[in-house]
Amino acid sequence: MKLQTGYWADFVSLLFPELCQACGESLVAGEELLCLDCRYNLPFTDFHLKPDNMVAQQFWGKVNLEDAYAICYFAKGGRIQHLMHHFKYKGIRKIGNPLGNIAAEQLLKSLVFKTVDVIIPVPLH
Ligand SMILES: [Zn+2]
Repeated sequence: MKLQTGYWADFVSLLFPELCQACGESLVAGEELLCLDCRYNLPFTDFHLKPDNMVAQQFWGKVNLEDAYAICYFAKGGRIQHLMHHFKYKGIRKIGNPLGNIAAEQLLKSLVFKTVDVIIPVPLH
């Protein structure tokens, strides 16, 4: 029965392909919201590994923060812009969880993160 579901799903995807939310290419089986190329080529900053990163420097002398990060670089016309705009302006809210998971995967690489009490995201507006 599962095979029929798989074949049916494949057939439907031929007629109505799901598109990568970052680049617009058709997704293949096993991909969800992001194609593999976009998933593995997101423009990560690695700021969470650099305490003196440019985001943290923006707060120095203004707000008493331990650390501040941006997970990815934002470039006009880039993958992150497409993802953010689909989430923010087109109401594709299902992008939120995968992006949160990607951010969490990155933050877990930081030793500083193991002592964090509170994470405050930047509001979308
Ligand atoms: Zn893509």
